[in-house]
Amino acid sequence: MQLIDRYHRKFEYLRLSITDECNFKCNYCLPDGYQRTHQKQFLSQNEITNLINAFAELGTSKVRITGGEPSLRKDFADIISQISQTEGIKKVATTTNGFNLSKHAEQWFEAGLSAINVSVDSLDANTFNLITGKNIFHKVMEGVEACASAGFEQVKVNSVLMKGLNDNDLNTFLAWIKDHPIQLRFIELMQTEDNTEFFNRYHLSGQTIKSILLKQNWICKIRHVNDGPAEVFTHPDYVGEIGLIMPYSKDFCSHCNRLRVSAVGRLHLCLFGEEGVDLRHLLQNSSDKEQLKKTIISALQEKKATHFLDLGVSGGTPHLASIGG
Ligand code: SAM
Ligand code: SF4
Repeated sequence: MQLIDRYHRKFEYLRLSITDECNFKCNYCLPDGYQRTHQKQFLSQNEITNLINAFAELGTSKVRITGGEPSLRKDFADIISQISQTEGIKKVATTTNGFNLSKHAEQWFEAGLSAINVSVDSLDANTFNLITGKNIFHKVMEGVEACASAGFEQVKVNSVLMKGLNDNDLNTFLAWIKDHPIQLRFIELMQTEDNTEFFNRYHLSGQTIKSILLKQNWICKIRHVNDGPAEVFTHPDYVGEIGLIMPYSKDFCSHCNRLRVSAVGRLHLCLFGEEGVDLRHLLQNSSDKEQLKKTIISALQEKKATHFLDLGVSGGTPHLASIGG
């Protein structure tokens, strides 16, 4: 059994949110900080085990643990270890705001984490503080360095470049990766239910960044069928590379290779535009695994060819912390 949809896209990659809580106030995501909007408990380790076993049997080989801020969970290292020991799972990744990184990078690596993305929206401490509401730029950068010493092969750094806020940081970012083996991932700002005004003011098109890179002789790498939606660029004079995530570009969804499960156990076929399918009642007993697999397969047949972000439709997603960006 494999996870393939009506458009012949194959889904071997699961993004699992383990909490929607966050301690940052990124101005494009949670400008007023985290507000709890539900009384539900987040998935327990037992529920996560049952979920991952089913996905692994359906061909999932990579799991990214996300949130909210995943490392706020006290059992984060245990969750990494549990997922990485599941038969069939070859890669366990996480995306983090870096708050707990300098202290725990080694522990997470030893628990079985194989890849890490750290969000750093600016290399200037003041701008970083302005965007995230946290005056801890240096601590986060110590965390990025700790990853290399811990043994991670390549650290990816996520950054949302915004017009008039941090777009001037592009050159500083490029200078940084000249001799640092980082993959910088520029994520184009996405419109969500809560950030429309902000989006209209600060959105910077990924295509604009792409043309700047091409003018500076960055070369777009050839994409393979299951590579996912990032366009990756390299340059002979740079040790690092760049990944561009451009959700508003024409072919973005045709490369979709990921499914999402929220921190309360709902399967989301897309970041935008649907309420999700409740899986939680099937996560309580391992004996429900076959039914769980059937439910996931049948839900996947409803996955649409594309999102409708370019029409300003962000579905019911209030912010990306809510279902795991
Ligand atoms: N808290 C963790 C972090 O910030 O890395 C993980 C969750 S966060 C939702 C995952 C990624 O989504 C981050 O890199 C963040 O910058 C990005 N993100 C959040 N809201 C976004 C938006 N509206 N548009 C584009 N990227 C967004
Ligand atoms: Fe928190 Fe990540 Fe959202 Fe920033 S982007 S508020 S760190 S969930």
